Order: sequence, then C-alpha cells, then structure tokens
Amino acid sequence: MSTHGKTPTLRVIVDRGRCCGYGLCAQLCPEVYKLDENGLVYVESELIPGGLEEEAREGAAACPAEALVIEAIQS
Ligand code: SF4
Repeated sequence: MSTHGKTPTLRVIVDRGRCCGYGLCAQLCPEVYKLDENGLVYVESELIPGGLEEEAREGAAACPAEALVIEAIQS
C-alpha cells in the first residue's frame, strides 16, 4: 500500500487525558495511532496521511474514551 504523495485532508486531535489505554485505535489504524510504554495513545503527526482516512476514522470511532477527534483540515 502506498500513500506517498497524497495530501492530508484530515487531522486528529488527541486528548491523552481521556485515553484509557484500550488500544483499539492502534489495532485499527497502527499507521496513525501509536501506544507509548504505558499503553496510552500518541501520534507522530496530527496530520492523517492521504489514503488512511477511513482507517483513521474507524480507529477514532472505536475509542471508548472519545479521546480521538477527527477534523477536516481547513485550507
Ligand atoms: S482507543 Fe481510545 S482509549 Fe484506547 S488507546 Fe486509543 S485513544 Fe486510548
């Protein structure tokens, strides 16, 4: 799967204070959602790489703690 060259259209706002470490987001979209050594979510970039929109939305929607909010990037 190549996502190279696609412009991001979404970003994700991560509220680590809400994250309970269930890890569902990282299971569904490991390219975007990473887990730190305590099992809490972090992202390397808020920008969702082009081509990963659906997985990123699924990961955010699956979060039982509502710690992930997907937003469209305003340009
Ligand atoms: S699904 Fe939600 S609570 Fe679970 S690790 Fe991801 S952000 Fe945290």
